[in-house]
Amino acid sequence: MTLLLRFAHQWVAGEAMEDAIQVAKDANARGIDALVNHLGEHYRDKAPVEATTREYLRLLGAMSSEGIRGTVSLKPTQFGVLIDKAYALSQMIPVLDAAKAEGRVLWLDMENAHTTDDTIWIGEQLLKRYDRVGMCVQANLKRTTGDIKRLIHESARIRLVKGAYKETSEVAYATRAEIDRAYLMHLETLFGRARDFAVGSHDGRMIRRALELANDHPTPFEFAMLQGVRDPLKREMVEQGHHVSEYIPYGPNWLPYFSRRLRERPRNIVTMVRSFVED
Ligand SMILES: Cc1cc2nc3c(=O)[nH]c(=O)nc-3n(C[C@H](O)[C@H](O)[C@H](O)COP(=O)(O)OP(=O)(O)OC[C@H]3O[C@@H](n4cnc5c(N)ncnc54)[C@H](O)[C@@H]3O)c2cc1C
Repeated sequence: MTLLLRFAHQWVAGEAMEDAIQVAKDANARGIDALVNHLGEHYRDKAPVEATTREYLRLLGAMSSEGIRGTVSLKPTQFGVLIDKAYALSQMIPVLDAAKAEGRVLWLDMENAHTTDDTIWIGEQLLKRYDRVGMCVQANLKRTTGDIKRLIHESARIRLVKGAYKETSEVAYATRAEIDRAYLMHLETLFGRARDFAVGSHDGRMIRRALELANDHPTPFEFAMLQGVRDPLKREMVEQGHHVSEYIPYGPNWLPYFSRRLRERPRNIVTMVRSFVED
């Protein structure tokens, strides 16, 4: 496990909050905003949910006292959406208020498709209390065209990603080509009709298209990438004057996140095995 954690450190700041604060400071020093996430998901008991709420309140306090530029991104299943969506909302409200007190945006991650409706519902309730709320939408889901339209209408912030969860063919595109096509189509919509959205991708093709669209539609947006992925590209975007943020996950429950990162880039498995053998 220790060896695995050492390898996971590329994508995960560490198990402790101080690790995330350190990585966030480093990101800020490189001109990048931090988007911190405390790892954990699929909670079905209230005790870990309520511990999560306290953790995020402490985290926002630490970000404030350490002068970190950026914000947090919450996973709905970590806040109890699988128990009850109204309960999850009630747990997020103190975090929203803490983010609001400092003028920070509050982002919601998007998880498996069976949580999309509830996540959007929660985001909409949060928006009634504070207008700087953003939600992630996944290009692999067939429903996303409609969700983007609805979220633009509600002036929600939108983070467009390809989607990291395995879904059925009823609700999701399966091939890379279909997902990429959908992503490019959603980029057009965002640049044409939205503002303050995030282009969440490391894919050079998606990023090049976003840069072209940004030339034609000068609207405020940011590039969002994961910790440990394409650092030279992040630097290049900052140097070109773009707003860049980095998703910084931390916490003891790092294994599911780490597995998703390995799955989407199998060559990482080869690198990992090689690093173990060479040790
Ligand atoms: C900020 C952020 C937040 C996210 N939040 C969510 C969320 O809430 N819900 C969710 O489902 N998913 C989320 N994701 C994950 C997302 O859905 C994808 O799984 C992940 O970003 C991989 O897709 P991709 O667009 O980067 O490109 P991929 O399709 O994975 O990669 C395409 C190409 O990008 C390039 N590339 C990718 N990685 C590297 C690398 N390490 N080095 C060099 N080139 C590389 C390669 O050319 C590769 O062929 C988030 C991603 C980001 C960046």
